[in-house]
Amino acid sequence: MTSRGSDGREMYRVEGADTRCSFCGKLPQDVHTILTSRESAICDECVVGALDTISRQPGYLFVRIAFRIFRYVASLNRLFRLGPGM
Ligand SMILES: [Zn+2]
Repeated sequence: MTSRGSDGREMYRVEGADTRCSFCGKLPQDVHTILTSRESAICDECVVGALDTISRQPGYLFVRIAFRIFRYVASLNRLFRLGPGM
């Protein structure tokens, strides 16, 4: 699966078994998803940590609210065993 930027270029790709997260070093079997760009990779856990950090910056009130809603929905996902929660 890939995601594309506004210019149509491929931005991220979900990778296979040998790709480590560039931030925490975890392998795909340790996390739910690893996304890669040309130069780096990031796992779903580090994405959530990054969003949490960004949402705590001054001036990001609405991002903070959206992040809290995201965490709530992710917990429902885990509760109903639809996938990993955060
Ligand atoms: Zn990671």
